[in-house]
Amino acid sequence: MGVHPHDAVTVVPRTLEGLRLLASNSRVVAWGEIGLDYHYNFSPRDSQLDVFRKQLEIAGELNLPVIIHDREAHREVLSVLKDFLGLTGVVIHCFSGDLQIAEECVNRGYYLGIGGTLTFPKNKDLKSVVQRVPLEHIVLETDCPYLAPQPWRGKRNEPAFLTAVLEEIAHLKGLSQDKVAQATTANAEKLFGL
Ligand SMILES: [Zn+2]
Repeated sequence: MGVHPHDAVTVVPRTLEGLRLLASNSRVVAWGEIGLDYHYNFSPRDSQLDVFRKQLEIAGELNLPVIIHDREAHREVLSVLKDFLGLTGVVIHCFSGDLQIAEECVNRGYYLGIGGTLTFPKNKDLKSVVQRVPLEHIVLETDCPYLAPQPWRGKRNEPAFLTAVLEEIAHLKGLSQDKVAQATTANAEKLFGL
C-alpha cells in the first residue's frame, strides 16, 4: 500500500497515519507504489517530493521494502533515495532508465522491475540494460492492466502474459527460461520476505 505520486496532492496527515495502521497487517509485504512522475505531473512536483519522502520514512520505520514509481525522474528519485540508506529493500518498478542509472541501482542493491515494455521491438535501451544487469537484481512484473507484452500489446495485461517477459530475458541473457524463472522468483521472495 501507499500513495502514488499522481495523488500526492490529495494527501493530508490523516492519510498517512491511516495507511501506517493498515500496514501493520502481516499480509502487507511492501510500501508502494511511491515516487515521482515528472511525465504527467498530475500533482505538483514539490508535493510529490514531500509525500515521497514522508512515505520512505514510514516504510523505513515499519521495515517494509518499497516499490518505486519513477517516470522521467531518474536522477531525482536516486537523489531522494540516497537519504534513506537503511531501507529493507527497493525495487524500481517498470524500470525505464539507461545503463548508467541501472548500474547505480545495482551498486546500491536495488532490484529492477522488468515487465512488458522489454518485449517491444523498439525498446533497445531496456534490452541492453537487461543484458548487462546481473540476474540477481531483476524481478519480473506485470504492471497489469497496463503494458501487455508484444504479442498482446494494447490489450488488457494479465499475469499469464508474464511468460513473454521471461522468454525475452532468457533470450537476451542466453540462459534457460527455467534458470531465469527460478532466479527471479527467489529475488522476489527475498525482496518481499515471502
Ligand atoms: Zn508505476
